[in-house]
Amino acid sequence: MSPDSDPRRHVIVVGGGFAGVGCVKRLAREDGVRVTLIDRHNYHQFQPLLYQVATSQLASTDIAFSLRKLFRDHDNVDVKLGEVTGLDTATHTVTLADGGSFTGDALVLAAGSQPNFFRTPGAEEHAFPLYALDDATRLRSRILEVFEAADRDAARIDQGALTFVVVGGGPTGVELAGALADLIAETMSVEYHDVAVSAAQIHLVDLGHTLLGPYSESAHDYAAKVLGRKGVRLHLGVAVTEIGAGHVSLADGSTIRTRCVVWGGGIKAPPIAAAGDLPRGRGGRIDVGPDLLVEGADGVYVVGDIANIPSPDGHTHPQLGSVALQSGVWAAENILADAAGKPRKSFHYHDKGIMAMIGRGAAIAEVGPHRHELHGAIAFSAWLGVHASLMTGVRNRVDAFINWGWDYFTKSRGPQVLDRAEIAKIDWDEDAAPDREPAAVP
Ligand SMILES: Cc1cc2nc3c(=O)[nH]c(=O)nc-3n(C[C@H](O)[C@H](O)[C@H](O)COP(=O)(O)OP(=O)(O)OC[C@H]3O[C@@H](n4cnc5c(N)ncnc54)[C@H](O)[C@@H]3O)c2cc1C
Repeated sequence: MSPDSDPRRHVIVVGGGFAGVGCVKRLAREDGVRVTLIDRHNYHQFQPLLYQVATSQLASTDIAFSLRKLFRDHDNVDVKLGEVTGLDTATHTVTLADGGSFTGDALVLAAGSQPNFFRTPGAEEHAFPLYALDDATRLRSRILEVFEAADRDAARIDQGALTFVVVGGGPTGVELAGALADLIAETMSVEYHDVAVSAAQIHLVDLGHTLLGPYSESAHDYAAKVLGRKGVRLHLGVAVTEIGAGHVSLADGSTIRTRCVVWGGGIKAPPIAAAGDLPRGRGGRIDVGPDLLVEGADGVYVVGDIANIPSPDGHTHPQLGSVALQSGVWAAENILADAAGKPRKSFHYHDKGIMAMIGRGAAIAEVGPHRHELHGAIAFSAWLGVHASLMTGVRNRVDAFINWGWDYFTKSRGPQVLDRAEIAKIDWDEDAAPDREPAAVP
């Protein structure tokens, strides 16, 4: 049957993240619907565990799942690999970078976020963001390369080889800093015999005065205490003013020599949000109504990170995997309601809470809508369980648990692979000597 004569309702879904996959999984169960899922990658990536790939706890394949494999048992789902560059919301048409296009009866935009460098000079060029699998493998290779460089020439340590700067005290920055401290203390110190690993430093910088902003005050203190115990130096209430090839400058006038800056400083909507002349609000995200439909754009749903989804308290829902997944499924239900001539329902978020892991055995969980707070080993167990169950493919879930378990009990690492040597390479003559005061050690 040619697509034109196919009587099934055709839904175009842009983005195979939590929101897109949640939506397609629900629609795939309906015989009267066919779906075209478009993503620039042929895999779904599990962002909450990117930092574990970056710090060699998990392999890339533990957190990336083939989209084709995910939907191979559903004849009504067609996966297309492509970069969507244009949107015509009136005709529900998307255009790809290669010139191809797809037109459907309904359009679901689930294209996620991208890092927001807040126009910090040098950040985009020199910092390592942690938003996609590619970012995590680049960062892992850079972490391994600076240790290799220090092993080849100890003088590199004075040039910042073993100094790491993490920008952002939210969950991404805190989790990465904790895992990096464990990697250095438990693995690098054992494997790099000729390197003065004790000279390694991790600095975490945030403009705010607390870590883990959305969490409770006791969680802020707990995170600071755990990171302090792991030797992470906190620079809170201080802005990063500039990032160079070999340094980070702070607003207090100090400079940190480093060859590895991790950017966990925030997110914003991706460029595709601006392509369709849709109403945009905070973070450049697309404003949607309570039913996840864009006002005035019939049949156009926007879900997950790219959307400003109104919440009952008058604010918008946060950019979280659980919000994305649930909003994707909800949009699918409303598309089915449209097709059946039934009324659409307003999105209701089932809040399971928020969690962050701060290295081995330490975690914070604020569970349920009333934010029942757990710290330490119980929260760590909750974290493991919730993230493993969120994972899409059963096989990967087992693999991830084997890697976690191995790492946890043996304190060794699985995949320490310097597979991005080209990006990890450092020009040591570039920006080697900033001429300002070194950062004070708190
Ligand atoms: C480091 C990190 C840690 C996190 N930890 C947690 C956590 O512990 N718990 C939690 O709940 N949430 C966490 N989050 C947030 C959570 O991952 C996001 O809220 C969630 O992934 C959003 O899902 P989404 O489907 O909207 O977008 P994404 O998962 O980003 O998926 C968007 C998809 O769209 C595709 N895409 C984008 N633009 C285009 C285009 N133009 N053409 C084709 N394809 C395109 C992308 O390739 C991607 O596959 C974390 C996020 C990060 C970055």
